[in-house]
Amino acid sequence: MEKRTEIGSIGEFGLIKRIAANFQENHSWTKKGIGDDAAVLDASNTLVVTSTELFIEGVHFDLSYTPLQHLGFKLVSAVLSDIAAMNALPAQLTVGLGLSNRFSVEAVETLYAGIKLACEEYKIDLVGGDTTASPQGLIISMTALGRVEEGKLTTRSEAKPNDVICVSGDFGGALLGLQSLEREKQVFLANPEMQPELDDKSYVVMRQLKPMARFDIIHELAALEVVPTSMIDCSDGLSSEIIHLCQASGTGARIFEKNIPIDDETYLSATEFNLSPLTAALNGGEDYELVFTVSQSDFDKVSKIADVTAIGYMTDIQNEQILVMKSEQTVNLTAPGFGV
Ligand code: ADP
Ligand code: MG
Repeated sequence: MEKRTEIGSIGEFGLIKRIAANFQENHSWTKKGIGDDAAVLDASNTLVVTSTELFIEGVHFDLSYTPLQHLGFKLVSAVLSDIAAMNALPAQLTVGLGLSNRFSVEAVETLYAGIKLACEEYKIDLVGGDTTASPQGLIISMTALGRVEEGKLTTRSEAKPNDVICVSGDFGGALLGLQSLEREKQVFLANPEMQPELDDKSYVVMRQLKPMARFDIIHELAALEVVPTSMIDCSDGLSSEIIHLCQASGTGARIFEKNIPIDDETYLSATEFNLSPLTAALNGGEDYELVFTVSQSDFDKVSKIADVTAIGYMTDIQNEQILVMKSEQTVNLTAPGFGV
Protein backbone atom coordinates (compact mmCIF):
# COMPACT_ATOMS: atom_id res chain seq x y z
CA MET A 1 0.00 0.00 0.00
CA GLU A 2 1.20 3.48 -0.83
CA LYS A 3 1.75 5.72 2.16
CA ARG A 4 -1.19 8.06 2.80
CA THR A 5 -0.91 10.92 5.28
CA GLU A 6 -4.10 12.89 5.91
CA ILE A 7 -3.61 16.64 5.43
CA GLY A 8 -5.44 17.10 8.76
CA SER A 9 -2.66 15.24 10.58
CA ILE A 10 0.01 17.81 9.68
CA GLY A 11 -2.30 20.80 9.13
CA GLU A 12 -2.22 23.53 6.47
CA PHE A 13 0.96 25.09 7.88
CA GLY A 14 2.67 21.72 8.05
CA LEU A 15 1.74 21.11 4.42
CA ILE A 16 3.06 24.52 3.30
CA LYS A 17 6.30 23.89 5.22
CA ARG A 18 6.77 20.57 3.46
CA ILE A 19 6.09 22.19 0.07
CA ALA A 20 8.47 25.11 0.73
CA ALA A 21 11.32 22.89 1.96
CA ASN A 22 11.70 21.40 -1.52
CA PHE A 23 12.10 24.65 -3.46
CA GLN A 24 15.13 26.90 -4.06
CA GLU A 25 15.26 30.42 -5.45
CA ASN A 26 16.99 31.34 -8.71
CA HIS A 27 16.42 35.10 -9.10
CA SER A 28 18.11 37.89 -7.17
CA TRP A 29 15.04 40.09 -7.66
CA THR A 30 13.03 37.62 -5.53
CA LYS A 31 13.59 39.45 -2.24
CA LYS A 32 11.19 37.40 -0.11
CA GLY A 33 9.47 34.14 -1.02
CA ILE A 34 7.23 31.73 0.90
CA GLY A 35 6.82 32.37 4.62
CA ASP A 36 5.70 35.95 5.18
CA ASP A 37 2.30 37.51 4.45
CA ALA A 38 3.34 38.42 0.90
CA ALA A 39 6.25 37.81 -1.43
CA VAL A 40 8.50 40.80 -2.20
CA LEU A 41 10.08 41.43 -5.62
CA ASP A 42 12.50 44.15 -6.71
CA ALA A 43 12.16 44.70 -10.45
CA SER A 44 14.31 47.89 -10.61
CA ASN A 45 14.05 49.35 -14.10
CA THR A 46 12.39 46.67 -16.23
CA LEU A 47 8.75 46.02 -17.02
CA VAL A 48 7.04 43.30 -14.98
CA VAL A 49 4.50 41.06 -16.70
CA THR A 50 2.09 38.82 -14.85
CA SER A 51 -0.51 36.28 -15.85
CA THR A 52 -2.93 33.98 -14.01
CA GLU A 53 -4.59 30.70 -15.00
CA LEU A 54 -7.33 28.85 -13.10
CA PHE A 55 -7.75 25.11 -13.57
CA ILE A 56 -10.68 23.09 -12.26
CA GLU A 57 -10.86 19.31 -12.10
CA GLY A 58 -13.50 17.99 -14.46
CA VAL A 59 -13.39 21.17 -16.55
CA HIS A 60 -9.72 21.61 -17.45
CA PHE A 61 -8.23 18.27 -16.51
CA ASP A 62 -9.23 14.67 -15.83
CA LEU A 63 -7.20 12.89 -13.17
CA SER A 64 -8.18 9.47 -14.50
CA TYR A 65 -5.56 9.84 -17.24
CA THR A 66 -3.49 12.82 -16.11
CA PRO A 67 -0.85 11.82 -13.56
CA LEU A 68 -0.61 14.49 -10.82
CA GLN A 69 3.07 15.08 -11.55
CA HIS A 70 2.35 15.78 -15.22
CA LEU A 71 -0.53 18.03 -14.23
CA GLY A 72 1.78 20.14 -12.06
CA PHE A 73 4.29 20.47 -14.90
CA LYS A 74 1.67 21.18 -17.54
CA LEU A 75 -0.08 23.92 -15.60
CA VAL A 76 3.22 25.74 -15.04
CA SER A 77 3.91 25.48 -18.80
CA ALA A 78 0.44 26.86 -19.52
CA VAL A 79 0.80 29.91 -17.31
CA LEU A 80 4.40 30.58 -18.43
CA SER A 81 3.41 30.37 -22.08
CA ASP A 82 1.54 33.68 -21.58
CA ILE A 83 4.73 35.25 -20.24
CA ALA A 84 6.65 34.01 -23.31
CA ALA A 85 3.95 35.51 -25.55
CA MET A 86 4.87 38.99 -24.21
CA ASN A 87 8.53 38.30 -25.19
CA ALA A 88 9.35 38.25 -21.47
CA LEU A 89 11.38 35.84 -19.36
CA PRO A 90 9.71 34.24 -16.34
CA ALA A 91 10.98 34.44 -12.78
CA GLN A 92 8.34 33.82 -10.12
CA LEU A 93 5.28 31.64 -9.59
CA THR A 94 2.50 31.45 -7.00
CA VAL A 95 0.16 28.49 -6.63
CA GLY A 96 -3.32 28.56 -5.09
CA LEU A 97 -4.78 25.16 -4.15
CA GLY A 98 -8.31 24.04 -3.29
CA LEU A 99 -8.13 20.49 -1.97
CA SER A 100 -10.92 18.08 -1.17
CA ASN A 101 -10.29 15.35 1.41
CA ARG A 102 -9.73 12.90 -1.47
CA PHE A 103 -6.19 14.32 -1.65
CA SER A 104 -3.53 13.15 0.78
CA VAL A 105 -0.26 14.88 1.67
CA GLU A 106 1.48 12.42 -0.70
CA ALA A 107 -0.85 13.37 -3.56
CA VAL A 108 -0.08 17.07 -3.00
CA GLU A 109 3.62 16.25 -2.91
CA THR A 110 3.34 14.41 -6.23
CA LEU A 111 1.64 17.46 -7.76
CA TYR A 112 4.46 19.63 -6.38
CA ALA A 113 7.10 17.25 -7.72
CA GLY A 114 5.80 18.20 -11.19
CA ILE A 115 5.71 21.88 -10.26
CA LYS A 116 9.28 21.59 -8.99
CA LEU A 117 10.46 19.91 -12.18
CA ALA A 118 8.93 22.81 -14.12
CA CYS A 119 10.53 25.39 -11.78
CA GLU A 120 13.90 23.77 -12.50
CA GLU A 121 13.27 23.49 -16.24
CA TYR A 122 12.22 27.15 -16.52
CA LYS A 123 14.52 28.39 -13.71
CA ILE A 124 11.76 30.14 -11.77
CA ASP A 125 11.08 30.69 -8.07
CA LEU A 126 7.95 29.43 -6.28
CA VAL A 127 7.33 32.44 -4.03
CA GLY A 128 3.94 31.80 -2.49
CA GLY A 129 0.38 30.69 -2.81
CA ASP A 130 -2.64 29.77 -0.76
CA THR A 131 -4.05 26.48 0.45
CA THR A 132 -7.68 25.93 1.27
CA ALA A 133 -10.31 23.19 1.47
CA SER A 134 -12.56 22.46 -1.50
CA PRO A 135 -15.87 20.61 -1.08
CA GLN A 136 -15.16 18.61 -4.23
CA GLY A 137 -12.28 18.00 -6.53
CA LEU A 138 -9.04 19.84 -7.12
CA ILE A 139 -8.75 23.52 -7.97
CA ILE A 140 -5.40 25.03 -8.92
CA SER A 141 -4.69 28.65 -9.70
CA MET A 142 -1.26 29.74 -10.85
CA THR A 143 0.15 33.23 -11.26
CA ALA A 144 3.47 33.79 -13.02
CA LEU A 145 5.65 36.89 -13.13
CA GLY A 146 8.37 37.77 -15.57
CA ARG A 147 10.40 40.70 -16.86
CA VAL A 148 11.09 42.31 -20.19
CA GLU A 149 13.03 45.41 -21.27
CA GLU A 150 10.70 48.15 -22.42
CA GLY A 151 11.82 48.06 -26.08
CA LYS A 152 11.30 44.30 -26.32
CA LEU A 153 7.75 44.02 -24.98
CA THR A 154 5.59 42.32 -27.61
CA THR A 155 1.80 42.70 -27.54
CA ARG A 156 -0.99 41.42 -29.78
CA SER A 157 -1.69 44.79 -31.31
CA GLU A 158 1.28 46.05 -33.33
CA ALA A 159 1.23 43.78 -36.39
CA LYS A 160 1.32 45.66 -39.73
CA PRO A 161 0.13 44.68 -43.21
CA ASN A 162 2.79 42.60 -45.03
CA ASP A 163 4.38 41.38 -41.77
CA VAL A 164 5.22 37.67 -41.99
CA ILE A 165 3.13 35.37 -39.76
CA CYS A 166 5.42 32.81 -38.09
CA VAL A 167 4.73 29.89 -35.77
CA SER A 168 6.92 27.71 -33.58
CA GLY A 169 6.65 23.90 -33.52
CA ASP A 170 3.66 22.07 -34.93
CA PHE A 171 -0.09 22.01 -34.36
CA GLY A 172 -2.90 19.64 -33.49
CA GLY A 173 -0.79 17.19 -31.46
CA ALA A 174 -2.25 18.03 -28.05
CA LEU A 175 -5.79 17.47 -29.32
CA LEU A 176 -4.92 14.05 -30.74
CA GLY A 177 -3.15 13.19 -27.47
CA LEU A 178 -6.36 14.05 -25.63
CA GLN A 179 -8.43 11.95 -28.05
CA SER A 180 -6.09 8.98 -27.54
CA LEU A 181 -6.20 9.27 -23.74
CA GLU A 182 -10.01 9.63 -23.79
CA ARG A 183 -10.32 6.53 -25.96
CA GLU A 184 -8.12 4.50 -23.61
CA LYS A 185 -10.17 5.73 -20.65
CA GLN A 186 -13.39 4.48 -22.30
CA VAL A 187 -11.75 1.13 -23.10
CA PHE A 188 -10.55 0.88 -19.50
CA LEU A 189 -13.99 1.76 -18.08
CA ALA A 190 -15.54 -0.95 -20.26
CA ASN A 191 -12.91 -3.53 -19.34
CA PRO A 192 -10.43 -2.73 -16.54
CA GLU A 193 -8.29 -5.77 -17.53
CA MET A 194 -7.31 -4.09 -20.80
CA GLN A 195 -3.83 -2.58 -20.99
CA PRO A 196 -3.58 0.89 -22.53
CA GLU A 197 -2.54 0.88 -26.17
CA LEU A 198 -0.62 4.10 -26.54
CA ASP A 199 2.62 2.75 -28.04
CA ASP A 200 2.26 4.59 -31.34
CA LYS A 201 0.95 7.71 -29.64
CA SER A 202 4.00 8.78 -27.64
CA TYR A 203 4.42 12.16 -29.39
CA VAL A 204 0.78 13.26 -29.27
CA VAL A 205 0.32 12.00 -25.69
CA MET A 206 3.39 13.97 -24.59
CA ARG A 207 2.04 17.04 -26.41
CA GLN A 208 -1.09 16.69 -24.25
CA LEU A 209 0.54 15.74 -20.93
CA LYS A 210 3.85 17.61 -21.02
CA PRO A 211 3.69 20.74 -23.17
CA MET A 212 6.60 23.19 -23.09
CA ALA A 213 6.43 26.98 -23.01
CA ARG A 214 8.68 28.11 -25.88
CA PHE A 215 11.32 30.23 -24.13
CA ASP A 216 13.87 28.64 -26.48
CA ILE A 217 12.26 30.75 -29.24
CA ILE A 218 12.29 33.87 -27.02
CA HIS A 219 16.04 33.37 -26.47
CA GLU A 220 16.69 32.79 -30.19
CA LEU A 221 14.78 35.94 -31.15
CA ALA A 222 16.82 37.90 -28.59
CA ALA A 223 20.10 36.44 -29.92
CA LEU A 224 19.10 37.49 -33.47
CA GLU A 225 18.06 40.91 -32.14
CA VAL A 226 14.58 40.51 -33.57
CA VAL A 227 11.54 41.91 -31.74
CA PRO A 228 8.30 40.50 -33.22
CA THR A 229 5.70 43.12 -34.13
CA SER A 230 3.00 41.04 -32.39
CA MET A 231 2.80 37.73 -30.58
CA ILE A 232 0.30 35.39 -28.89
CA ASP A 233 0.58 31.88 -27.49
CA CYS A 234 -1.57 29.14 -28.89
CA SER A 235 -3.83 27.78 -26.17
CA ASP A 236 -7.16 27.77 -28.04
CA GLY A 237 -6.15 26.83 -31.60
CA LEU A 238 -4.18 28.44 -34.43
CA SER A 239 -7.25 29.96 -36.16
CA SER A 240 -8.51 31.61 -33.05
CA GLU A 241 -5.05 33.05 -32.19
CA ILE A 242 -4.59 34.50 -35.68
CA ILE A 243 -8.03 36.12 -35.46
CA HIS A 244 -7.02 37.59 -32.06
CA LEU A 245 -3.82 39.08 -33.54
CA CYS A 246 -5.76 40.57 -36.47
CA GLN A 247 -8.50 42.04 -34.29
CA ALA A 248 -6.00 43.60 -31.89
CA SER A 249 -3.79 44.95 -34.70
CA GLY A 250 -6.53 46.02 -37.11
CA THR A 251 -5.16 43.82 -39.89
CA GLY A 252 -6.29 40.85 -41.97
CA ALA A 253 -4.34 37.64 -42.59
CA ARG A 254 -3.64 35.27 -45.42
CA ILE A 255 -2.23 31.88 -44.43
CA PHE A 256 -1.41 28.84 -46.52
CA GLU A 257 -2.49 25.28 -45.73
CA LYS A 258 0.67 23.85 -47.29
CA ASN A 259 2.82 25.75 -44.76
CA ILE A 260 1.00 24.75 -41.56
CA PRO A 261 3.31 22.41 -39.65
CA ILE A 262 1.66 19.12 -38.61
CA ASP A 263 3.70 16.22 -37.18
CA ASP A 264 3.40 12.84 -38.95
CA GLU A 265 2.05 11.14 -35.82
CA THR A 266 -0.58 13.88 -35.44
CA TYR A 267 -1.52 13.40 -39.08
CA LEU A 268 -1.87 9.62 -38.77
CA SER A 269 -3.76 9.80 -35.45
CA ALA A 270 -6.20 12.35 -36.89
CA THR A 271 -6.94 10.04 -39.82
CA GLU A 272 -7.47 7.18 -37.36
CA PHE A 273 -10.01 9.26 -35.39
CA ASN A 274 -11.78 10.38 -38.59
CA LEU A 275 -10.68 13.95 -38.02
CA SER A 276 -9.21 16.23 -40.62
CA PRO A 277 -5.55 16.88 -39.68
CA LEU A 278 -6.00 20.47 -40.91
CA THR A 279 -9.00 21.02 -38.61
CA ALA A 280 -7.05 19.51 -35.70
CA ALA A 281 -4.19 21.92 -36.40
CA LEU A 282 -6.43 24.98 -36.81
CA ASN A 283 -8.94 24.35 -34.02
CA GLY A 284 -7.30 21.93 -31.58
CA GLY A 285 -6.07 23.73 -28.46
CA GLU A 286 -3.31 23.37 -25.87
CA ASP A 287 -0.33 23.23 -28.24
CA TYR A 288 1.25 26.21 -26.40
CA GLU A 289 3.24 27.18 -29.47
CA LEU A 290 3.99 30.83 -30.28
CA VAL A 291 2.30 32.66 -33.14
CA PHE A 292 4.06 35.93 -34.02
CA THR A 293 4.60 38.44 -36.78
CA VAL A 294 7.87 40.00 -37.94
CA SER A 295 8.54 42.76 -40.44
CA GLN A 296 9.68 41.61 -43.92
CA SER A 297 13.14 43.04 -43.18
CA ASP A 298 13.54 40.80 -40.12
CA PHE A 299 12.29 37.67 -41.83
CA ASP A 300 15.72 36.60 -43.18
CA LYS A 301 17.05 36.39 -39.64
CA VAL A 302 13.99 34.59 -38.26
CA SER A 303 14.11 31.99 -41.02
CA LYS A 304 17.38 30.78 -39.44
CA ILE A 305 15.50 29.50 -36.38
CA ALA A 306 15.10 25.76 -36.94
CA ASP A 307 11.70 25.26 -35.33
CA VAL A 308 9.98 28.34 -36.79
CA THR A 309 7.81 28.24 -39.93
CA ALA A 310 6.35 31.13 -41.92
CA ILE A 311 2.69 30.33 -42.64
CA GLY A 312 1.48 33.52 -44.31
CA TYR A 313 1.32 37.29 -43.98
CA MET A 314 -0.78 40.12 -42.61
CA THR A 315 -2.95 42.14 -45.00
CA ASP A 316 -4.62 45.54 -44.80
CA ILE A 317 -8.13 44.07 -45.09
CA GLN A 318 -9.53 44.30 -41.56
CA ASN A 319 -11.61 41.35 -40.32
CA GLU A 320 -10.65 39.14 -43.23
CA GLN A 321 -8.65 36.02 -42.40
CA ILE A 322 -8.12 33.83 -45.43
CA LEU A 323 -6.85 30.27 -45.59
CA VAL A 324 -5.41 29.32 -49.00
CA MET A 325 -5.94 25.57 -49.42
CA LYS A 326 -3.50 23.24 -51.18
CA SER A 327 -6.06 23.20 -54.02
CA GLU A 328 -5.66 27.04 -54.17
CA GLN A 329 -9.29 27.42 -53.11
CA THR A 330 -9.67 30.06 -50.42
CA VAL A 331 -11.84 29.86 -47.31
CA ASN A 332 -12.42 32.16 -44.35
CA LEU A 333 -10.72 31.14 -41.13
CA THR A 334 -13.25 30.51 -38.39
CA ALA A 335 -12.83 29.72 -34.75
CA PRO A 336 -15.28 28.51 -32.11
CA GLY A 337 -16.03 31.39 -29.77
CA PHE A 338 -15.92 34.09 -32.44
CA GLY A 339 -19.50 33.59 -33.56
CA VAL A 340 -18.65 33.20 -37.24
P1 ADP B 1 -2.00 33.92 5.14
O1 ADP B 1 -2.82 33.22 6.17
O2 ADP B 1 -1.33 35.16 5.59
O3 ADP B 1 -2.68 34.01 3.80
P2 ADP B 1 -0.81 31.42 4.54
O4 ADP B 1 -0.74 30.65 5.77
O5 ADP B 1 -1.90 31.14 3.56
O6 ADP B 1 -0.75 32.96 4.90
O7 ADP B 1 0.56 31.27 3.76
C1 ADP B 1 1.83 31.28 4.43
C2 ADP B 1 2.94 31.32 3.38
O8 ADP B 1 2.90 30.12 2.59
C3 ADP B 1 2.79 32.48 2.40
O9 ADP B 1 4.09 32.89 2.03
C4 ADP B 1 2.09 31.83 1.22
O10 ADP B 1 2.39 32.56 0.03
C5 ADP B 1 2.68 30.42 1.22
N1 ADP B 1 1.77 29.40 0.66
C6 ADP B 1 0.52 29.06 1.08
N2 ADP B 1 -0.01 28.05 0.36
C7 ADP B 1 0.91 27.74 -0.59
C8 ADP B 1 0.95 26.80 -1.67
N3 ADP B 1 -0.06 25.97 -1.95
N4 ADP B 1 2.07 26.76 -2.44
C9 ADP B 1 3.09 27.61 -2.19
N5 ADP B 1 3.13 28.50 -1.19
C10 ADP B 1 2.05 28.59 -0.40
MG1 MG C 1 -3.33 32.60 2.83
